Amino acid sequence: MRPPDRRQRRPLATGAANAEVSPDRSRRNMLARHRKLPTAYASVFVPQGRRSWYWLTFRCPVCGTYVFARSRQIDQAPGPRKGTCGHSVSVVAARIYGRQEAA
Ligand SMILES: [Zn+2]
Repeated sequence: MRPPDRRQRRPLATGAANAEVSPDRSRRNMLARHRKLPTAYASVFVPQGRRSWYWLTFRCPVCGTYVFARSRQIDQAPGPRKGTCGHSVSVVAARIYGRQEAA
């Protein structure tokens, strides 16, 4: 009968290099993922009448699906977003319709 704790012990990593690299690397991965997002040029419709959300329509640059999305705030409309087709894209407000400010 062997004692159950006769496992191989993992050698302790001399953590300094690891500890410094891993958070930096993950941060860079996140940035890279954001930068890699394909850009979708959206038409933005400002709230009008009883509609209180901003509407966005854009064509998914990945699969070509026309995506409809909504946003409470105009400044939340652009940026990384996941379309209904499932692709993550970086939305840019290319056109804004129904701007309420005086021209
Ligand atoms: Zn798509």
